[in-house]
Amino acid sequence: MRDLGSGSVSRRRELLAVSYVWIGRCFAARRQVVTILRAITVTPGKGGSARLEEVPEPSPSDGAVLVHTLALGVCGTDREIVSGCYGTAPHGEARLILGHESFGRVVAAPPDSGLAPGDLVVGIVRRPDPVPCAACAAGEWDMCRNGRYTERGIKARHGYRSERFRVEPDFVVKIDPALKDLGVLLEPASILAKAWEQTGRIGHRSRSWRPQTLLVTGAGPIGLLAAMMGVERGLDVHVCDRHEGGTKPALVGELGGTYHPEPVADLIAHLAPDVIMECTAAPALIRDILGRTAPTGIVCLTGVSHSGHVLDVDVSRINRTLVLDNQVVFGTVNANRRHYELAADALAHADRKWLAGLITRRVPLEHWSEALEHSPDDVKVVVEFPQI
Ligand code: BGC
Repeated sequence: MRDLGSGSVSRRRELLAVSYVWIGRCFAARRQVVTILRAITVTPGKGGSARLEEVPEPSPSDGAVLVHTLALGVCGTDREIVSGCYGTAPHGEARLILGHESFGRVVAAPPDSGLAPGDLVVGIVRRPDPVPCAACAAGEWDMCRNGRYTERGIKARHGYRSERFRVEPDFVVKIDPALKDLGVLLEPASILAKAWEQTGRIGHRSRSWRPQTLLVTGAGPIGLLAAMMGVERGLDVHVCDRHEGGTKPALVGELGGTYHPEPVADLIAHLAPDVIMECTAAPALIRDILGRTAPTGIVCLTGVSHSGHVLDVDVSRINRTLVLDNQVVFGTVNANRRHYELAADALAHADRKWLAGLITRRVPLEHWSEALEHSPDDVKVVVEFPQI
């Protein structure tokens, strides 16, 4: 005799068990969806709007590589975004996750990406425009022709300043593990790797180009990395900045360079540099260096000034010397993958103790706002994230 009752009881139990499993899975899935991370965010265009807030786990659409953030560098661009002068949130969103100088450890990566859990990595800042223009199509998004590129943590794309981030395998660069947290210097170093590559290409328009003297204006992280790469190229390196003492002159001295606290206008007359790497974006200083290199010299502008500084300039003097002496003035921004790789190589071969001296302050994530305050003796300030 078929026990319908007990049969239907066991069926009910089965159904109940299936439902528990299903509900359990839903909760687990929900737990995954609502995982909360801390991130530094800002409303672009609104000064004083930066805060540490909870954000969801990064979306897989950001990229197949999941990275645990270890540290992030802070630079003038971040300060400008926080002051409301620069930056754009992703389309349709009000807030932007800050951070473009990343450094972290891979948590998960596709097997064919060349990356493995535990690798130390840095994410590339810029993404090609969607058209794409000829430069972006060739992988040279740093030379984008239509301005529709995006930049993580800067322009229309969330940055790396959250506890975990995702990134596309083609936009991740591996760091020599021996560098450890000095890997956070890779993004700024990539800017100089490009600046030096471009300077070299321009210089070689003349078959006799043999630069000897480099003047770097500004002893911040960009200026000091420019100087480091100048020393690597065997140049006689001079760095000028306003500070009389402290960390910056010491770092230049340790490199084997000469530090000058005097005004650049006094210095440049007797120095006659073959290359000037301008790393201050200070309008009066830029006026004083234009047309002042040795014949065939090159001025490379790396800083972004605010518009609105109107100065009296003798344009005919500048034009006359640029033409008669074959001088070049050019601007450079951002970096493509090739430059990140060149920079990773330069850092791997640099003196670690000297590189470590560039990081003058480390601030825990909880005190992130202190990292945005600028003290005159700061070179690179880094926000440190909890380790796992
Ligand atoms: C970043 C560059 C970026 C530029 C302009 C700089 O601080 O290092 O990657 O292209 O700002 O947004």
